[in-house]
Amino acid sequence: MIDCSIKGDLMLLTISTTHEPATDLGFLLHKNPGRVHATDMSFGTVHVVFSEANEERCTAAVVVEVDPVGLVRDRKGPKGNDFSLDQYVNDRPYAASSFLCVAINKLFGTALTGRSKERPELADTAIPISAHLPVVPCRGGEQILRRLFEPLGYTIEATTIPLDSTFPKWGDSRYLNVTLAGTCRLRDLLEHLFVLLPVLDDDKHYWVGPDEVDKLLRRGGEWLSVHPERELIAHRYLRHDRRLTTDALARLLADDPVDPDDVGAAHDEEEAIVEKPISLNDQRLAAVVGQLQASGARRIVDLGCGGGKLVERILRDTKAEKVLGVDVSYRALQGAARRLHLDTMAPRQRERVELIQGALTYRDRRLQGFDAATVIEVVEHLDPPRLGAFERALFAYARPGRVIVTTPNVEYNALFATLPEGSLRHRDHRFEWTRAQFEVWAADIAERHGYQVEISGIGPDDLERGAPTQMAVFQQ
Ligand code: SAH
Repeated sequence: MIDCSIKGDLMLLTISTTHEPATDLGFLLHKNPGRVHATDMSFGTVHVVFSEANEERCTAAVVVEVDPVGLVRDRKGPKGNDFSLDQYVNDRPYAASSFLCVAINKLFGTALTGRSKERPELADTAIPISAHLPVVPCRGGEQILRRLFEPLGYTIEATTIPLDSTFPKWGDSRYLNVTLAGTCRLRDLLEHLFVLLPVLDDDKHYWVGPDEVDKLLRRGGEWLSVHPERELIAHRYLRHDRRLTTDALARLLADDPVDPDDVGAAHDEEEAIVEKPISLNDQRLAAVVGQLQASGARRIVDLGCGGGKLVERILRDTKAEKVLGVDVSYRALQGAARRLHLDTMAPRQRERVELIQGALTYRDRRLQGFDAATVIEVVEHLDPPRLGAFERALFAYARPGRVIVTTPNVEYNALFATLPEGSLRHRDHRFEWTRAQFEVWAADIAERHGYQVEISGIGPDDLERGAPTQMAVFQQ
């Protein structure tokens, strides 16, 4: 136990492990357990002290000495200039807010990146670890706390802190006393805290700009894309800035680092030019709409809806009550909203349609309960290793009554006059299948998930090479 003589100190966070030897925590945090570490921050001095350090258990505490005047003086942003009492008397330094995140970043920067000079393997190993945060501002209470941390594998203990313990009648404050326990890498715990504490608080002491999106993706990249609350997290982390949030989600959900917006924009023109001489796009739309009409589907979801041509046709030519367009690209969705004139649509029509941002390769509750899903010229944009994730998300999880998939038939490419030999119809296509390849893929899926499948061609049917587009209709 270390005797530390910090005056009026406030405990923000303790991190403990029972991994043996527990003192390795010092190596992971790059802090010697035998010393008190002090770092100056704009809002005061932050100390790291080890309150216990033995073989069985080791606990590091982040303690802050607050300088409320410095806090206001150094405050950045437009509000920084106007004086108000609120700036001096506020909870910021005491609570586990974004100040703590700034501190975590500064104190444990190397640990956050998963590096440890002395214990590299341990930094990569999941160890029993817990974090205690005595004062966590939490908008939405314990329920939100659980929704954010439980999917990451933590067990949670939380008690609400009364507004004033001498006046219980005043009720509870918005602060929780929280302990998180789990088995993970130290780096994971730090990343989770770094991203999720400001999300719980739903406030930040600095202004968010586009670089915050980068920060969010850097710290959350691996786990955030599969977190069921990723939208809430991005929304709150980016301070409810819609533009930044959609940008973050698009980049998070896209399966590769290419900006899906750029790809989407280029797509329409390039492929359309190749296929135009046979007006394949029209024929494809007509074939798909024909299938939907025949099926009598009332609730239809168009996955990878792009600029919304099919959504427009479905609204016009079918009796669908509900048409949901989904695309990972925000720009594509904006284009679709413009094409459909969503903002000036008659209310009854408007109720029939919705456009949302989402990815085909992640389970998404919003995609459940549909009679039919269309996936038109989209699968070939997915990296082959992600096709399994697409299959599970759609055929195992969302499970629409019918699924209509179209994709190019690569055998036909030689017949397109403008297409150089051996090239695919679009730069972003990851593959184009032969008829045999498509058939095997579709038959396997149908068998695995209890669907019947029928395959047909769309466009002029060449005796040798088949039709330019192939279509599979799956039915439960
Ligand atoms: N279905 C439309 C657009 C096809 S282009 C049409 O037939 O015209 C492919 C579309 O799929 C693009 O809009 C692209 O943004 C979208 N897309 C690519 N990968 C995706 C993914 N993983 N999740 C959702 N949409 C995706």
